[in-house]
Amino acid sequence: MAALQVTYAKRAAALNAADVPYTDPASICPVCASEPVASVLRIGGKANGHRYLHCGTCCTEWHMVRVKCSHCESTKGIHYETIEGGNDAITAETCDECGTYRKIVNQEKDPMAEPLADDLASLMLDLLMSENTKFKRSSANPLLFVAVAEEQAETQNQGLVDPAAQ
Ligand SMILES: [Zn+2]
Ligand SMILES: [Zn+2]
Repeated sequence: MAALQVTYAKRAAALNAADVPYTDPASICPVCASEPVASVLRIGGKANGHRYLHCGTCCTEWHMVRVKCSHCESTKGIHYETIEGGNDAITAETCDECGTYRKIVNQEKDPMAEPLADDLASLMLDLLMSENTKFKRSSANPLLFVAVAEEQAETQNQGLVDPAAQ
């Protein structure tokens, strides 16, 4: 996946931003159609204070207004969860409409915050979300796809083994 990211990011970087269309739904990457891994509140220049969704595959970032679900685009029932005493630059934006959450990293609080890396670095937040809330992750981190696939294979194997054992 990391190798694929390099290839995709290189190709995406070669595009002229003006040639990249607006997509509908706006919740998928306008370059490669992957789901965003997380979003980021940017600082500096024209991007200052704007929220961008970050593609986990080609690293393209595209603008989406704040306080809008980055999965179903609802503007109702958006809330934020953080780890008490944890890194407050990373919050989980939850949506009552579709029941999912996606993390936002805030460069106003941590100028070095980076969506893909900080998503991986904040798995504790995912753990708390799965244990304490009804919200599911809206999309996985691509660098964890192998782990997810192995987990699924394990569950399927268990499913096959269990009936035979009874
Ligand atoms: Zn992409
Ligand atoms: Zn939603």
